[in-house]
Formats: sequence, C-alpha cells, structure tokens
Amino acid sequence: RHPRDPPRSPAMASLFADVPMAAPVVVFKLSADFPYRTDEGQPWVLPVVRKVEAQISNDLTLNHEYLPILGLPDFTQAASAIVLSKDSAAIADNRVGGVQCLGGTGALRIGAEFLRRWYNGNNNKATPVYVSSPTWGNHNGVFGGAGFTDIRSYKYWDKCTRGLHMKGMLKDMEDAPEFSIFVLHACAHNPTGTDPTHEQWMEIAKVMKKRHLFPFFDIAYQGFASGDLDKDAWAVRYFVDQGFEFFCAQSFSKNFGLYNERVGNLTIVSKDHDNVMKVRSQMEVIIRTIWSNPPTQGARIVAKTLNDPQLFAEWKENVKTMADRVLLMRDELRKRLEKLGTPGTWNHITEQIGMFSFTGLNEAQVEYMIKTKHIYLMANGRINMCGLTTKTLDYVATSIHEAVTS
Ligand code: PMP
Repeated sequence: RHPRDPPRSPAMASLFADVPMAAPVVVFKLSADFPYRTDEGQPWVLPVVRKVEAQISNDLTLNHEYLPILGLPDFTQAASAIVLSKDSAAIADNRVGGVQCLGGTGALRIGAEFLRRWYNGNNNKATPVYVSSPTWGNHNGVFGGAGFTDIRSYKYWDKCTRGLHMKGMLKDMEDAPEFSIFVLHACAHNPTGTDPTHEQWMEIAKVMKKRHLFPFFDIAYQGFASGDLDKDAWAVRYFVDQGFEFFCAQSFSKNFGLYNERVGNLTIVSKDHDNVMKVRSQMEVIIRTIWSNPPTQGARIVAKTLNDPQLFAEWKENVKTMADRVLLMRDELRKRLEKLGTPGTWNHITEQIGMFSFTGLNEAQVEYMIKTKHIYLMANGRINMCGLTTKTLDYVATSIHEAVTS
C-alpha cells in the first residue's frame, strides 16, 4: 500500500498501522550496555571530570556556538594522540586525522558509511565486513545500517579452551576475499574479555597485510582494560608500525564515565596527509546530513583533561581506580569459586580483561541465575564485573556454584 492510499477502514487510520513492533534491544533492557559502578553499586562521576566541569562552567569565554562539522580540533587531536601515542611516527608524518563523533557508536557508523561509499570500489556495499564471533551486538547493526550487505563473522572464541580461537581466526582471514574489512577489538574484547597476546597480534597483522584486509579497530575500553593507556593501545600502535592504513573508533564513554555525553573520535591513519584530507572531506559531507555538527560539552571535558599535564595525570589515576576495582572483583570471584570447588576451571575469570567476563555458563545455568537467584547476566553467559561488589561476591559465587552443580 502507498501511504497516500486512503485508509482501508477508520480503525486502520494510522499511517503507521503496518509498522511491525521491533524486538527490544537486549542489552539496554538488561543493563543499559552496562556502565561502571562503584563498590557501593553507584554510578561514578570521575573526580577529574567534576573538576573540569566546574572550570568550564566558570569560564565566561566559552559559549554555545556550533562546533565545526568534524568537531573540536583540540579534542580530535588529543584523542588520536592517546591511542597512537604522542610520538607516533604517523602523527609526526602528518598523516593522521580525527573526526569527532557521537560516542564510539557514532565513530563506527561514520567510518562504516564512508567505507561503504568510497572504499574498494565506489559505493561497493558488497565488500565483506567481518566481525568477531561473538562480538558486541551492535557491530552487525552499525555496518548493516551503513548499507553493507555481506556481514560475516570470523572465529574468535573457543568454547572448549574458554580462550581465543587463534587458528580459526587466522584461517578466516586467509580465506577472506582481499580488501575485506575486519572489525578488531583493540583491547578488552566485548563480550569475551579475551584479547590476543602481542605475538598473536603480530601473526594477525602478518596475515592481514598479506591478504590486503582493512583493519577497523574499535577501542571502547582504553585504560579500562589494564589500567594502563599505553598497554591497551599496543595493537593499534603495532599496526601503525607495520604500515597499515586503518580506522580506529574511540569511545570515551567508559574511561571518562561520560556515557550520556556521546564522546567519540574516529582516528584515520593513511599513507600521507593528502589522503587523510580527502577522507575527512567526505566524512564532513556524511556528517553534515546526519547530525550536522557534534555536541560540545563532552569533547571539551576530554580535550581539557588530555591537554593539561596535571589533569591528565589525575585522569590516569581515576581510570586506574576503575580498572583496579574490576581486577579485584575478578580475583575475588575466582578465589571463591575455587574454594567452593565449583566444577570446571575458573582461571579464565582472571585471565580475561575489561569489564566483562564470559563465564562459560550455559543457557540453562544463566536462566537459573536469573530466575532463582536474581543475578542478571546475558543469555550468552557474559557477566559484568562492575556489577559485583565486595558485599555481593559471596552470593554470586555460591549462586554460580549452585547453577553449575544443581
Ligand atoms: N564498541 C564496543 C565494543 C562497546 O562495548 C561499546 C559500548 N558498549 C561501544 C563500541 C560504543 O560505545 P559508545 O557508548 O561510546 O557509543
């Protein structure tokens, strides 16, 4: 039916009557893509963020004019510099560009939209895009939403070893058509919490180079994974050293606790300055028709923090506070399960990185946790370590024990 056709009957009067109800967005329903929580189970505004917010609100030279389409230059430059490092050869060569986006999601979406329009043949929506199996649920949607029609998955998680499926991953890369796009979690893989080692990244880079595969990094947890910004960016920097051209979508939602401000940056690394300029010019065209220009507050907070040595040091301390709490919860949970003698191995809990842990609980066990114990985790067994506190550890450990043994 055409929308201008007259309604079939008065009861069918809405133009939207034929719109199907979409399924709920699972992770948001469960936990709003779970933000960090303190040991009291409360949201945490980083002290450095409070301080900078106060400075901003007292600074009468600031106003609410539009930002440039590609964002606040102080922000994009500083953001690219923390992922690539200040003394990155690519920055020195002036072949890095940043684009301020609405969160990490926006950075992925703009990168994807650009690639669909301009990469590997003009408007080539059939270029395969590979995401890890499993991956953050939104990767499929974002690349699909940008128009890609061939979204595939590459092996990542090995159920048996509860670790990385390195062989399968490399084979999928070997077998992928040349110039395929590979979405890579730079650190703290969501949902498995399992990252390649440095040696494994080296092998990955080797195969990707040989097969001319395009790396699209997603870094949503820099600093949050290990407590160390440089360590968490190791893979991205290694790809620079290896001469790749790539994109990297950065999110400041987690490491600044700025979830609702939508602060993200898309870092572009290319062969030379000219190419970066061309890419950015097309991204400007894309953004103009999507959000026109980005919001200011979050980008200002991040830019001020990253560009001031004192504030930067304070921020690193704040990030470490969050990372350390997660590491402590991992240690304590593993200790308890081992003490209880819960069947299975639990070393993966401390070996995994970042906010999430793939517990290895099966669907029936997850259902038991939710229905009987009121402990909420994803159907795939992913728990959020920030949901644990010193007060709930015992209860969670004994519940897992019961779920596994009952
Ligand atoms: N990538 C991954 C892997 C994520 O986990 C998230 C957030 N859950 C994002 C991207 C998006 O982050 P943002 O909220 O900044 O859009």
